[in-house]
Formats: sequence, C-alpha cells, structure tokens
Amino acid sequence: MKNDGDTLDLHDRPAAPAVPDAGVVRQNTRRVHVKTFGCQMNVYDSERMSEALGAEGYVTTDTVDDADLIILNTCHIREKAAEKVYSELGRIRAIKLRRAREGRGETTVAVAGCVAQAEGTEIVRRAPVVDLVIGPQSYHRLPGLISRIHAGERGLVEIEFPEEDKFDHLPARTPKIRRQPTAFLTVQEGCDKFCTFCVVPYTRGAEVSRPVARLVEEAELLVRQGVREITLLGQNVNGYHGEGPDGRPWSLARVIRRLAGIDGLERLRYVTSHPRDMTDDLIDAHASEVKLMPYLHLPFQAGADRILAAMNRKHTGADYLALVHRLRQARPDLALSTDIIVGFPGETDAEFEATLDIVREVGFAQAFSFKYSPRPGTPASTMEGQLSEPVKSERLQRLQALLDEQQSSFATGLVGQTVPVLFERSGRKPGQLVGRSPYLQPVHAEANEAWLGQIVPTMIVSAGPNSLAGVIQSQ
Ligand code: SAM
Ligand code: SF4
Repeated sequence: MKNDGDTLDLHDRPAAPAVPDAGVVRQNTRRVHVKTFGCQMNVYDSERMSEALGAEGYVTTDTVDDADLIILNTCHIREKAAEKVYSELGRIRAIKLRRAREGRGETTVAVAGCVAQAEGTEIVRRAPVVDLVIGPQSYHRLPGLISRIHAGERGLVEIEFPEEDKFDHLPARTPKIRRQPTAFLTVQEGCDKFCTFCVVPYTRGAEVSRPVARLVEEAELLVRQGVREITLLGQNVNGYHGEGPDGRPWSLARVIRRLAGIDGLERLRYVTSHPRDMTDDLIDAHASEVKLMPYLHLPFQAGADRILAAMNRKHTGADYLALVHRLRQARPDLALSTDIIVGFPGETDAEFEATLDIVREVGFAQAFSFKYSPRPGTPASTMEGQLSEPVKSERLQRLQALLDEQQSSFATGLVGQTVPVLFERSGRKPGQLVGRSPYLQPVHAEANEAWLGQIVPTMIVSAGPNSLAGVIQSQ
C-alpha cells in the first residue's frame, strides 16, 4: 500500500462506534463526532474516548454537522499529518459558526492525540475555535473537562503526564452490539527507543505495559460482545513486559498464549514490533500457536548500516535479514509487512540502493513507505545533509513501484487457494461481504449476512491491487 503521511496508516479498518447512534436520536441527546487520524492506537483511543463519553450520555454520530462535541484525535508522526489537523479545524470553525447561526446550540471542539501533546497551547493560539486540547494520557479526564467547558471555561490544555493510570479510570468496554467481530486492544504504550527521526517517545512518553490481568479481563469482555479476532497494540508491542498474575513480568508471547486460551477468540495479531525485541519465545509462538495469524508487521526503516546507526535503530541490515530467516523457518507461510523511510538526512544513492536490496531479498506482502519528514525536537531534524523534496520523491516512487510488484505477486499467489476468511462487514455492493484473510488482506465475497462474524473457507478467485475476491466454499 502506498502511504506518505496520510490518515490510518496500518491495517486500515473503520472503528465501530462505541456507543452507536442507532438512528434513534432523542431531542436532548448529546452527540459526539470523533475523527481519527494516524495509527491503530488512535483508533483504539477514539473508541475508549467515545465509551467514556457514552457513560455521560453521549451517543456517537458519523455526521460532523450533527455533533455537539467534535473531537479530532490527531497524529504528529509526519508534518503532513499534523498540518491536516489545522485545515480540518478551519472547516470545523465554519460548521461551528453555521450551527450557532441556525440556533442548533453550542459546538464544543477538542483536539486529542499526539498533535495535542506536542503543540499544546500553540493549538489554541493558532485555532481559537478549539475549546480543549487533551494529550493521550488524560482521556479518562475527558468528561470532567467537557463539564468545565459547559460551565463556561475555554481554551483548556491538559497535556501533563498524569500520575494515575488512565486505563484504571476509564470505564470498562461498553457492553453493546458490536458492529465488527474484530477489535484492537492496547497492551503497551509509549516508547523508550528514541529513533532519531521519531516523535513518539516525546508525544506518548515512556514505555508502559498494562498488567496481564487487565488485558485478560478486557479480551474476555470483547469476546462476550462477539469479537473473534483481537489485535494487540503497542508502539513497541513486542517490548511488552507487563506484570503477570504471578507478580513477575510476562513477555508478549506469554500474553498471546494466555489470550489464545479464551474460548470463542479465534484469531490474534499484534502490531507494531521492533526487530530488536523479537525474542525466541515470540518467534516460537509463530510456530506453535495456531490462533496467532501468519502475518507480522516488522519495520526495518532503511537498508544501509550507516543510516540505521544514524537512526539509532540498534540493528543492522544483516540482523534484519537473519531475523526474517528465523521467522520463516518457524512459520513458512508468514506474510511480512514493514515500514520504510526514504531520504533520511545524508542518505546517498548507494545507501538508498541498500534499502531496495533488503526489499528484494525479503519480498514483502505489504509495506508502508514514507519520505523522511523532519519533526521539530527530534535529533534527525537538525542533522546535516537534509535532502531535497525531488530527491525524496524520486526514491519513494522507485521503492513503491517495487513494493507494489511484491504485494501484487503475493496476492496473485493466493489465487486458486482456499483460505479461512473472517467476515467483518457488508461490502459496497448488495449481497457482498468483506472479511480478512489470515494475511490481513481484505477479501470480498458474495455471501449471506449470516456469515458475518464467521470464519469461512473461501476460495480466492482473483487479486486486485488492494483486495482479493473470493467464493465461499461452505454454502
Ligand atoms: N514503533 C514503530 C516502529 O518502531 O517501527 C513505528 C511507529 S511510527 C507510528 C510508524 C512509522 O512512521 C515508522 O515506522 C516510520 O517508518 C514512520 N515515521 C516515523 N517518523 C517519521 C518521520 N519523521 N518521517 C517519515 N516517517 C516517519
Ligand atoms: Fe518511534 Fe523508533 Fe519508538 Fe518506533 S521504536 S515508536 S520508530 S522511536
């Protein structure tokens, strides 16, 4: 998939509203519209914010015009992602004015997520339409802050890293009829790796792993709500080391094994992993745990060792290739996905070629590739040798042409095979359902709605650029 700083980077899937507005809108019900930018962690956070507000009587709406409260859950990873927030705020200002003119009441505007954390009061200065700026660690305080705004306060900025753990103060996952049989579950937040290009350690703070008992509780609740597949989330998910029920730190592999024991949970995935934290027990889980899907997102960022060292990645190109070899020995059909940055400061043509060499050697089923974007406050942003836009664009184009070929050859290789597909939602065409293959590809098939939420053997009959078409084998 092509990507350069847009919304919903990875495993892009719509978030089910936590408290769906089922078409019945009472006159004095308050409505919240949450727009999510960035990674799956933001998708998860948006759902938890909606749930916290649901406990205060809010219902979610997909229509921004109908919302009494608009929340932008933002991404700061690349400049383009952050700038999108300001242009969105321009549109929201017009909506707020129009709603006031039409006597539809006050519209409260909040900016959450990593732009909120990184820019704080600057947001209120640049966009006075914003009533509240709230960082990712403070979402449990959202209802209280909204009440203060209703009481007349404006321009509140809540970006301290609070002492208390937000997960202990957020309401439990809301029991409801879920629209999707898949869910995200954040197991770890923050990052201590400090790659020199990246803002995450500054916007999300230090690495924190949630205790195993909390994860089991949340996963069991999700399964009771009809979830069949859970994706465990963390900025550095395989660095997970949360407290186990025995009081000792558990590894991610151990958590996966524990969750795989939950009846009714059929599939597990995890994202995003750092090559340095790919431990033997996790590699082993890919060989032995049948519920762990044969798909792994493992960013390598660049091929040349000099660039990897300047990025502070703490692995070499050869380390990455050796790791891929071990993973494929453990699980021969493992589909690999990755993140790659082109045009890091000082990257020469030969160093860019080293990136292409790794791509050729591995053969990726999917990849996300980006032009290097200097982020204020990160060490790489002040390094010598910043490259021009045309050089970065040309490299990105060449890389993406190669990645597209690989993605398409992986997809075409499945044509004629029957794979288990978990059907998640209705497709655009009547009578069509959309699901996911074990390798995370969207699969379209003509099927009865009764198959929603079921894992069904499906013969792949053709492969398009971003999805597969299949025919159900059990009807
Ligand atoms: N924690 C993950 C890891 O270490 O691979 C990735 C987190 S980040 C949200 C997702 C991706 O954005 C990174 O893997 C990297 O490729 C890309 N990225 C981060 N900072 C960037 C920057 N300054 N310019 C371009 N791409 C960037
Ligand atoms: Fe950013 Fe590196 Fe941490 Fe990933 S590992 S979140 S790229 S600092």
